Amino acid sequence: MEKEKKGVRLEHISKIYQDPKTGKDFYAVKDTDLVIEPGSFVTLLGPSGCGKTTTLRMIAGFESPDEGEIYLGDEPINALTPDKRDTAMVFQSYALLPHYNVFDNVAYGLKLRKVPKDEIKERVTRILKLVELEGMEGRMTNQLSGGQQQRVAIARTLAPKPQVLFMDEPLSNLDAKLRSEMRTELKRLHSDSNSTFVYVTHDQLEAMTLATKICLMEKGVLQQYDPPLTVYSQPANRFVADFVGNPTMNFIDAKVTDSSTVEFLGINARFTPNDPKQTINASEVILGIRPEFFTIRDGGKIKATAYSTLPSGMETTVKVKLADELVSSVVFGAIDYRVDQPIECDIIGDQICIFDKETTKRVSIGKLEVL
Ligand code: ATP
Repeated sequence: MEKEKKGVRLEHISKIYQDPKTGKDFYAVKDTDLVIEPGSFVTLLGPSGCGKTTTLRMIAGFESPDEGEIYLGDEPINALTPDKRDTAMVFQSYALLPHYNVFDNVAYGLKLRKVPKDEIKERVTRILKLVELEGMEGRMTNQLSGGQQQRVAIARTLAPKPQVLFMDEPLSNLDAKLRSEMRTELKRLHSDSNSTFVYVTHDQLEAMTLATKICLMEKGVLQQYDPPLTVYSQPANRFVADFVGNPTMNFIDAKVTDSSTVEFLGINARFTPNDPKQTINASEVILGIRPEFFTIRDGGKIKATAYSTLPSGMETTVKVKLADELVSSVVFGAIDYRVDQPIECDIIGDQICIFDKETTKRVSIGKLEVL
């Protein structure tokens, strides 16, 4: 019988370290509340040093929190060592046993748990099929490619059916093509397994494509915890908006002249919030426009010139010059504009963000119509 899926809950979790240079204490993770739903795939995302690994290591039991409590299902687990948590970790280095073949590497955890021989054979065979390594049971690990070794490492961790599987940048040693293939495999593995996945990465594309929910952190503080598309289209603040999306969002200083008129780069536009009850109280704001919403089309009301054209195959990133500022636009297909060629642009869609310039929080989202 399959075990009931369990999630993880963090309540007011903090970790304090001492800065080796100054000797002063600082919060590597500060007052974090997080509910990781059973069976979900959560990515901990953020720039280097933001506290992702520390958070993961606390959930896995390799570090203990200085404040707060962690629960696995309903059970408080702060006091439990990693081996008592029914969780497992895939290490970046794979940590395979070099003198064992593929089968024995995957069977290792099951043997330790004294699982009967027949069941070990059945479970290892099934899991090797899942990671597409059937027929390779007898190979030694040094006879495998990087991607195959990584799949053995994942199979070995999944074999004992842990409630929660932790991964800390597991694909960082692989080349770009293999990384992309492994992302597909990981997503499939997650839906086939009964485990909750918690995955550390600083790569926003990896987080966007894999996660059911992204936990985006900066300087030890949780910035937003939402499904990837919500993080992308409704960022909580300017930091989140800037970290997610490639090419990055355009940020343009603007003034709100009355509650619905916005002035920027010599342009006046009417802003209509998606939520009619929402009013913007700040006068100095930052407009956030994703490049796909700054479109180039004949007859567009914004007159600009082409600054650079970067085709990447399926799409082209065009930087346009507008009142001495550069604004990015993404156009489907391959297009080549002459440098300084006049072009006409428009702002489309209902996901134009307005951030308060002082607090950098998003204060509204809606449509922007150039007047
Ligand atoms: P990266 O992507 O570079 O791995 P991260 O987001 O995973 O970064 P953490 O490894 O969690 O970041 O580190 C968070 C902060 O805590 C960093 O400033 C780091 O230098 C610091 N830190 C981590 N471990 C210790 C330690 N044992 N003692 C002191 N400071 C530490």
